[in-house]
Amino acid sequence: NLKLATRMSRLGTESAFVVLARAAELAQQGRDIINLGIGQPDFATPDHIVEAAVKALRDGAHGYTPANGLPALREAVAKDLYRRHHAEVDPDCVVVVPGGKPTMFFAISMFGEAGAEIIYPNPGFPIYESVIRYTGATPVPMTLREEDGFAFSAQEVLAQITPATRLIILNSPANPTGGVTPKAEIDALVAGLEAHPQVAILSDEIYSTMLYDGREHVSLLHYPQIRDRLIVLDGWSKRYAMTGWRLGYAVWPKDLVEHVTRLCVNDHSCVNAATQHAGIAALEGPQTAVEAMNAAFDERRQVIVEGLNALPGVRCADAAGAFYAFPNVAGTGLTAAQAQTLFLEEGGVATVAGTSFGASGEGFVRFSYANSTQNIREALSRIATLLEARI
Ligand code: PLP
Repeated sequence: NLKLATRMSRLGTESAFVVLARAAELAQQGRDIINLGIGQPDFATPDHIVEAAVKALRDGAHGYTPANGLPALREAVAKDLYRRHHAEVDPDCVVVVPGGKPTMFFAISMFGEAGAEIIYPNPGFPIYESVIRYTGATPVPMTLREEDGFAFSAQEVLAQITPATRLIILNSPANPTGGVTPKAEIDALVAGLEAHPQVAILSDEIYSTMLYDGREHVSLLHYPQIRDRLIVLDGWSKRYAMTGWRLGYAVWPKDLVEHVTRLCVNDHSCVNAATQHAGIAALEGPQTAVEAMNAAFDERRQVIVEGLNALPGVRCADAAGAFYAFPNVAGTGLTAAQAQTLFLEEGGVATVAGTSFGASGEGFVRFSYANSTQNIREALSRIATLLEARI
């Protein structure tokens, strides 16, 4: 008899967690499951980061911190952004939150309401569309295509802007495609946005340290002309293998810092203090573990892309960044959902159907290569057997 608010019926979810639950269920039944479904590093958080949290707890970091994050952490973030992108960032514009997702939720809630339009990547991280719908705003999909390396076309995005457009969401390197947007498209988008000063940009750069084949990340922080309407989301989850710690941040326009801080106060007060100390150690300590993890991802990436391209009916574009391959499986005659089911139920390989990331993901399956090379090879061999049996 409970009467929930109507907006609850508009909230979506992340299917990767559903696949994860089914994979766990099968594993419990004694099946040997290889998980290429979940988007999280298979490495442990580097020791010196764990030790910093333990030390912080022993030293008494047990209370609230400022809602926007410890000043030392926000300064460490600003220094890191300068080191990595040569971007000047005022530490007071950095707001620390529990993970990458809260920035998404806060930014979309800040702009979304009935009558507003928000442009978002499709296929893309499913939480964007979910939260847009939750706020009552209209989701306007920015279609990303295989032939463009899953990068957006600035011309197309600019043509989608209407007087109701409030926010454009960008994500490079991207989940689920591994696509990296070339600088020329970003340049063209930023130039075109001069004619639309009412449009804000949320740039999700959580995979900004994971690019391959010598590619360099182009942060939206490189464009001073849009700083007053730019939110850059980043965090520790992927880069430092810290998904379970819940630590992220965004760089906000100065005028929005007060608004987002108020959302933090209403929502979670502050991020767990010891976790914030771990975040400082991560940014200020040696980056050798990060480099080693990235080298491992690169090696696995080459194995998986080559292996997927060798499967009958499958072709896989170059996976340029993050830790995802997004092969086109249309040639197998399977839909994305059928492929996901076949691979998991019969092959014991967890993957995520492209349609979990939006309608434009039909015909594609996301493989996370955050797993050992040995497991990746075994998964590919199991899928090869399944697909060959269908010919
Ligand atoms: N943004 C993208 C594109 C992601 O793929 C993810 C996680 O999968 C996140 C943000 C969320 O990261 P976090 O676990 O820190 O909330």
